[in-house]
Amino acid sequence: MRATGETMAAPGVAMISGGSRGIGRAAVLRLARDGYDISFCYRHDEHAALMVAKQVEAAGRRVLAIRVDVTDRAAVQLWVQRTEQDLGPVTVAVTSAGVIRDRALALMEDDDWHQVIDTNLGGVYHLCRALVLPMTRRRGGCLINVSSVAGVYGVPGQTNYSAAKAGIIGFSRALAKETGRYGVRVNVVAPGYIDTGMLASMSPAVREKSLQAVPLGRPGQPDEVADAIGYLAQAGYVSGAVLQIDGALSL
Ligand code: NDP
Repeated sequence: MRATGETMAAPGVAMISGGSRGIGRAAVLRLARDGYDISFCYRHDEHAALMVAKQVEAAGRRVLAIRVDVTDRAAVQLWVQRTEQDLGPVTVAVTSAGVIRDRALALMEDDDWHQVIDTNLGGVYHLCRALVLPMTRRRGGCLINVSSVAGVYGVPGQTNYSAAKAGIIGFSRALAKETGRYGVRVNVVAPGYIDTGMLASMSPAVREKSLQAVPLGRPGQPDEVADAIGYLAQAGYVSGAVLQIDGALSL
């Protein structure tokens, strides 16, 4: 699916994986409001993607909305090529596509493990891999990878997810060191409990117990994570940071 709108000059082009819902959607809308042209991908929900694309157009920005499975490296590479061809050089990328398959390790199926690692960590690798050469050649760019507090502290029942999200932090710190001299910044946001479809998919009992542990006493909103993403997109001297957005959950 593709949609375009016409307009004033943008500060750049932003790519967002998993931009049709939740935190990715909020990042799309925030960066569009900040003046970026937008290319985002989704996996299944074409209707949700179309609604988001319309909102970007209404904000006066150009938009490309494409169905891409981030576990497919070739498809991600093609998405990057198409974005640069249609919208111009990518200046910011946000890797928000993610899934959970919660289960105690003793009961975990191989497929639960691989789906979660391949989507959350593999998806970050694929998009950053496709963008790192063009960005270093242009001597500038900003990669913002979405991890989780699970990747910092570990969450029982989420060994697969915690491993993937911890992997994103190690990956991003290493890449920030590799690419800093080329002006490419790499940062991580690590949300706590955020009010999205992912949180709604947890069992009510687990959700209730989890939220009781949050000192701010409520889940975060996707827009509150997007605020941090908008900040990191502009923060020229911030690289290698892991910004926790968790209502003090981690204290
Ligand atoms: P949602 O379930 O609300 O949205 C997930 C998005 O990712 C959708 O747009 C979905 O597209 C897309 N997606 C999933 N798998 C793929 C895939 N293989 N290829 C392309 N797109 C895919 O999730 P959230 O917004 O809650 O989560 C966003 C990120 O934030 C994730 O990385 C998650 O791990 C992280 N996070 C979330 C927290 C929370 O409490 N919500 C807490 C900490 C981190 P479609 O709908 O078409 O399938």
